[in-house]
Amino acid sequence: MSNTYDVAVIGAGSVGVPTALALKRKGFSTLVIDKFSSPGQGSNKAAIGGVRATHSDPAKIRLGLRSLEIFSTWKETYGHDIEWTTGGYAFPAYEEKDKDVFQKLLEIQRPYNLNIDWLSKRELLDVVPDLNRRDLLGGTFSPEDGHCSTLLASRAFYDQAKQEGVQFRFSERVEEIKKENGRVSAVKTDKGTYRCSTVINAGGAWADSFSLPSEYRLPLLPESHEAGITEPVGHFLGPMVVDMRRNSRSSNIYFFQIEAGQIVFCLTPDPPVSGLDRRETSDFLPLVAGRMIALIPSLASIRVRRTWRGIYPMTPDGSPVIGWIEDFPGYFLAGGMCGQGFMLGPGIGELITRMAAEEELSREDREILKILSPYRDFKKPEVLE
Ligand SMILES: Cc1cc2nc3c(=O)[nH]c(=O)nc-3n(C[C@H](O)[C@H](O)[C@H](O)COP(=O)(O)OP(=O)(O)OC[C@H]3O[C@@H](n4cnc5c(N)ncnc54)[C@H](O)[C@@H]3O)c2cc1C
Repeated sequence: MSNTYDVAVIGAGSVGVPTALALKRKGFSTLVIDKFSSPGQGSNKAAIGGVRATHSDPAKIRLGLRSLEIFSTWKETYGHDIEWTTGGYAFPAYEEKDKDVFQKLLEIQRPYNLNIDWLSKRELLDVVPDLNRRDLLGGTFSPEDGHCSTLLASRAFYDQAKQEGVQFRFSERVEEIKKENGRVSAVKTDKGTYRCSTVINAGGAWADSFSLPSEYRLPLLPESHEAGITEPVGHFLGPMVVDMRRNSRSSNIYFFQIEAGQIVFCLTPDPPVSGLDRRETSDFLPLVAGRMIALIPSLASIRVRRTWRGIYPMTPDGSPVIGWIEDFPGYFLAGGMCGQGFMLGPGIGELITRMAAEEELSREDREILKILSPYRDFKKPEVLE
């Protein structure tokens, strides 16, 4: 195996592997390094696999639209089954203030030709018949969003990347990025040094775990989030359902039913649980189960098989950080993916590749980069985090 590459990607996760594939396809010799022993073992495998374009800012909408295209056509393009399902996303509203927020968001989303609409109570019940009807005001539904298996998808991207010639080094920890003649020259790990002129930091919640000659500090705020899966039952749930109501211990919950019949679910704790702890807790299940059953009472009879915990690599404003770092030419940051790195990863990978290839960027790409710039002020929180 060579020790010299055009590009080294740190992290074989939701962002790193699709990025490496896109880079290789553009002709860059590419190495991916990960401290874990196989791809997708960081936050990727904890993600439940929701993929949507219906965000609240233009950057995520555009990246989400491209990712949706890649995920939904993966099987016909490359042959691997990633269990893609175009089931849509439903955001039911039970409170006037949520109805207002969702309806205002439509005004932002519509100019991007997103297929999303406000449904009356009756119309929403046609889509999700088991929703609790009491106080239901209606909700938004975006039928072209969907979900897939994060485990199958990371394997599929990895297999494809390997087949196309991307090199991978697992169980190897990056310790330092080196500089020579004023720019990136190499990546040093606990096992060796790899020369390269470009480094993509796709290190997720651990993106600040190595040293580099730059003044820039990624405002990374890792948070623990838990998820779970039930036993399989007959199909009754089409879309991903997101309940945005906040209570004293959690903000939102979201869940969907996979093809094989299991319900996969997740909850956002409030206040957030800071840190990198991936050990699941006994608090999670009663909390999330209570909320899910209140929303869809028929879930009460379904047994839970397993829970797990993973990390959201959060930023202060709930949006990723993407761009070159000015005082260290050749160093590119693709971090702080928050709760959406899986669904944005393939779109981000292609954008990084256009930048690495020094292609002329479209107005849309430039707008994405401005919104997700490492040098923004991080003050405006995202509405649908
Ligand atoms: C419970 C839960 C549910 C979620 N559900 C969804 C969802 O439905 N949809 C969605 O889009 N997102 C979801 N997410 C969020 C998603 O998992 C993350 O945003 C995404 O995985 C981050 O991608 P990443 O590539 O930045 O990080 P990762 O996938 O974690 O990859 C980063 C990799 O970098 C490696 N690395 C870091 N530092 C070093 C180093 N020094 N040396 C070597 N290797 C290093 C790590 O080992 C890791 O493998 C969920 C997250 C959780 C916890």
